[in-house]
Amino acid sequence: MAINGEKEFNTEFRVVWRDGSIHNIRALAVVQRDDSGRPVRMIGTNWDITLQKHAEEALRESEEKLNTLFGSMTEMVVLNELVFDESGQPFNYRLTDCNNAFSTITGIEKENAIGKIATELYQTETPPFFTEYSRVALTGVSYEYTTYFEPMDKYFSISVVSPKKNTFATITTDITGIREIQNEIFAKNEELENYLYIASHDLRSPLVNIQGFSRRLQKHADSIKEIISDPSIPAGIKSDLDHILDEDVPKSLKYIFSSVTKMEALLAGLLHLSRTGRTLMTIREIDINKLFHLIIGHYNFQLTELNAVVNISELPTCYGDENLLNQLFSNIIGNAIKYRDKNRQLLLDITAQIEFRKVVYSIRDNGMGIDQRHLEKIWDIFYKVDASQPDAGDGLGLSIVKRIAEKHNGRIRVESEPGKGSVFFVELQRFEFAE
Ligand code: ADP
Repeated sequence: MAINGEKEFNTEFRVVWRDGSIHNIRALAVVQRDDSGRPVRMIGTNWDITLQKHAEEALRESEEKLNTLFGSMTEMVVLNELVFDESGQPFNYRLTDCNNAFSTITGIEKENAIGKIATELYQTETPPFFTEYSRVALTGVSYEYTTYFEPMDKYFSISVVSPKKNTFATITTDITGIREIQNEIFAKNEELENYLYIASHDLRSPLVNIQGFSRRLQKHADSIKEIISDPSIPAGIKSDLDHILDEDVPKSLKYIFSSVTKMEALLAGLLHLSRTGRTLMTIREIDINKLFHLIIGHYNFQLTELNAVVNISELPTCYGDENLLNQLFSNIIGNAIKYRDKNRQLLLDITAQIEFRKVVYSIRDNGMGIDQRHLEKIWDIFYKVDASQPDAGDGLGLSIVKRIAEKHNGRIRVESEPGKGSVFFVELQRFEFAE
């Protein structure tokens, strides 16, 4: 405040303290004069504003960094606020800020965009995605989706977050490239599965022929044996033929039959895998608790015989095809039983963790575990760690598990320690999705 019309003395300066540190000081003072107007004294205060200065500097720096980041991002970032009618209902939204990528991608200049309401800005009858956006702005719960934008022939992945009540920000990433690769992989997978199906299906008929003609060969051999039983056949020839018919032919036929059986099993496995891939899914919300209790019930006899302990936590639901997920988790539980450590009581622990839009189910066993060098390969078709093991299956179970997880836009991985046990992690979608 100025006294006698004097201007206040208001300045900032720096002082070096005795310990060498530099301090910012603000001085505020006024001159006091006597009745004749002569200056008699100055009244004022000094503040040490070093901390405030540092904070201001840090704020300025971080704002600068944020602005640079905001401006140079390839993702389009748009801030909006809801627009309400007289009754307090939101009916539109207004763009309050956007970055350079917005102009690059949409072709709308920033100056022409800021302050515009959505219907005007995007030239639409209703504000785009209004239900979803207003829900985020009102509840604060984030939302994420992917969409195809026809006018630009592009796919976008959009995250919607609410920085403050009644406002929302959209962060949009152009995923057209990724989508194209995904579509290509999808088409290739489909093609492969078709080949697999045709090959395994068609290879079965020649196999049936080999089996049939081998049986006929056996019959022919039996007929020859009958013919040579005739006493007019010289003994030397008879003995040679007996050797061929009693030993050589049956031995060869035994190999043919066992190879045919093996090949039949392989083809059945391939057919099974290709059928899993080709299955049309019915995606709905799955009560995984119920599903696990069903699966454990299915293995009840074995688990009771083994005196196994199974703990199932409260598990969140997920979206998927019930039959396929039943198969996925059954294979994992079945393996935990097959590959248990016979020297200790089998313990199974089933838990889950929510990770944003995914839920990760963990199935932990205290079985024989898997050596590091096999961990990558156990997902391969027909791969067996130890084929000589009495319980070893056909090496198909985990390749089916992997295929089912992928069909659900999910993932599967394992952590294992030989002699201690394994944990299988199955990541699935918490919300509705399209295959
Ligand atoms: P299979 O159908 O023959 O059981 P999988 O594809 O299911 O084959 O599994 C591949 C290999 O992974 C098995 O040969 C087994 O050695 C190993 N394996 C799978 N699950 C477990 C587990 N829970 N503990 C230890 N080893 C396992």
